[in-house]
Amino acid sequence: AFRILHGSRDLALALVGTAQQFGVIAEMLNVVAQPHDQPDLPELSDKPIARGTIELRNVSYAYADGRQVFNNLNLTIPAGQKVGIVGPSGAGKSTLLSLLQRVDDVGGGCILIDGERINEMSRDSLRQAIGVVPQDISLFRRSVLENIRYGRPDATKEEVIACARKTHCDEFIRALKHGYKTIVGERGASLSGGQRQRIGIARALLKNAPILLLDEATSALDSQSEALINSALIDLMKDRTVVAAAHRLSTLSRYDRIVVLADGHVIEDGTLDELRNAGGMFSQLWALQTIEGDCPPVPEIATEAA
Ligand code: ATP
Repeated sequence: AFRILHGSRDLALALVGTAQQFGVIAEMLNVVAQPHDQPDLPELSDKPIARGTIELRNVSYAYADGRQVFNNLNLTIPAGQKVGIVGPSGAGKSTLLSLLQRVDDVGGGCILIDGERINEMSRDSLRQAIGVVPQDISLFRRSVLENIRYGRPDATKEEVIACARKTHCDEFIRALKHGYKTIVGERGASLSGGQRQRIGIARALLKNAPILLLDEATSALDSQSEALINSALIDLMKDRTVVAAAHRLSTLSRYDRIVVLADGHVIEDGTLDELRNAGGMFSQLWALQTIEGDCPPVPEIATEAA
């Protein structure tokens, strides 16, 4: 899950009391945390992001408590490429996704999207450029329709339903007592973890941003639910630049490129096949997974292999 950094915190805390009454605390915190509360420069670019090329140049970043996460991190992601970020727990996968949304400014270096520094872009252009599927989707205590429409508030009902179909939500939504009008979270209408994730995917699909940030779920769902999510994600990822915090080796085949982070740097970078055969940290993780016969979370194995 994305974290609330620095200045967002006071506002977020102030909102908790009010938001509690409506059962939307997590969603409100998400809204507050994204994209950022950093001051905008006077001359801002409102140019819409068309392609979604991402470049991190010598990025350094430390949290307010002094914890250094990145040190001269360099990474260029061409438009349309799908990148899975792998690394031991604490390597900075979630922090990277937060920085791309400018939840906080980098300490050194810069982040560019389509050649434009993100701290020189208006909040609106950055927000519109990026769709986010967090690990745990927070739903408003409102109708399922409104929850999906949150991705693009001016979307028609037909557009919402079209996205729900593509992401395997339509069938279970129609089976709810009041269909798309069902209030989520009320008794009798609680959704499974997999269904909630698919709603988050539908929301991002409706938003239709050129860049998608995905914080993958850490634990596996049942295989049918997993298959539906995979299929929904394939639709969502199509024709977008994707940066995903990958917590499980089992999902890596969906990415064009795997980037292994450790100690604030990129330590391996290549396709899944290349890294499996490279004889580095990644291939050790992969071998361990094969020996164990299942797909334990990446962080645990990484620690053993390090
Ligand atoms: P995981 O796989 O466990 O989710 P990760 O690779 O996503 O880990 P991050 O969550 O980005 O790693 O954390 C990177 C480092 O920054 C860790 O050492 C973490 O403890 C620290 N960190 C994360 N958020 C904060 C914060 N808000 N304040 C201070 N330190 C933080």
